[in-house]
Amino acid sequence: MQFCSRKLLVLLAFVVGSGLFMTGCSTALVQQEVADDNSLQLERTLPQNQPSTSNHKLTQCFGCGFSLGKKQYRGHLGEDFGAITPGVAGDPVFAIRAGTVTISKLDGTGDRTCTVKNRKGWGNYVVIAHPYPKVLAPKGFLYSLYGHLDSRAVAVGDRISEGQQIGIMGCTGFATAVHLHQGLVDRNPPGLGYLGKDFTQGSRCVPDHVSDSTGRTYYCPSLFFSAPTLRINGGLSSSKPQGQTFVTTGSGYTPNGTVTRILRKPDGSEVPLTPKIQADSSGNIGWSFTSSCSTPIGTSLLWVIDDTTGRGLFWSSHVEQIVTKGAQC
Ligand SMILES: [Zn+2]
Repeated sequence: MQFCSRKLLVLLAFVVGSGLFMTGCSTALVQQEVADDNSLQLERTLPQNQPSTSNHKLTQCFGCGFSLGKKQYRGHLGEDFGAITPGVAGDPVFAIRAGTVTISKLDGTGDRTCTVKNRKGWGNYVVIAHPYPKVLAPKGFLYSLYGHLDSRAVAVGDRISEGQQIGIMGCTGFATAVHLHQGLVDRNPPGLGYLGKDFTQGSRCVPDHVSDSTGRTYYCPSLFFSAPTLRINGGLSSSKPQGQTFVTTGSGYTPNGTVTRILRKPDGSEVPLTPKIQADSSGNIGWSFTSSCSTPIGTSLLWVIDDTTGRGLFWSSHVEQIVTKGAQC
């Protein structure tokens, strides 16, 4: 087994919005499934979204593989993050976004000392559903997966806030050292751990997603930690009766670029709002919307997608607007 060494890391200018720098490792290198080493110290990015671990130390990249005995594991469908103290369970694990827990259970075998043989499964794992536009994720959600936990702190149905601790790092399931497997996929349950062939192009999060034979699409998690998050607010969780005006503003968009607004109605259907609006020279947007008596009552979600950057920045904030029955309706 071989690890990326510091001298083989390449710096990559990641041209997403603000031009953050991320690190990656050569495709020729094969990383171990997990971190039992203390040699790999990727330069940390400064996440703008909540990362799932405290030290954010990548130990197996998205698309990489490794060998264990005669078995080959190729095309890692997530990212592994090691413990602050290599090999020691107990680091807190955090939700990368707000959402609702869809899975929290023990799958397979394993223990916190990594000594059990014939290990399998995700071990103690948690999956959280995050609302997302259906035009980008067919089920209307992205699902974050947290595998190999020592213990879980949440239950199915729990509403989770961004950055909330959902468990602690461990070595349960198919793991040979303490680590977190972080996955991000557009279906629930979350599918595979390996695609069966390596697909990395040599830089971290390149490509940023891949699909398996079932049609599931897996995304590179740390892209979402590091990509600038488009911020929209003003209507966040606002509650108003029909006939009232909602004012929404946002920032972080391409200066003078156009944005698409997508509305998810209370019945789950989604429609693009027209006309498109344009960001100002600073990348800010703003608009108002006056509901009518025919506006559906319930919780509406609104996303804004930067047309220039598209999917690369699609971890956009959404706005919740709760429309109640107006007095005049
Ligand atoms: Zn993994």
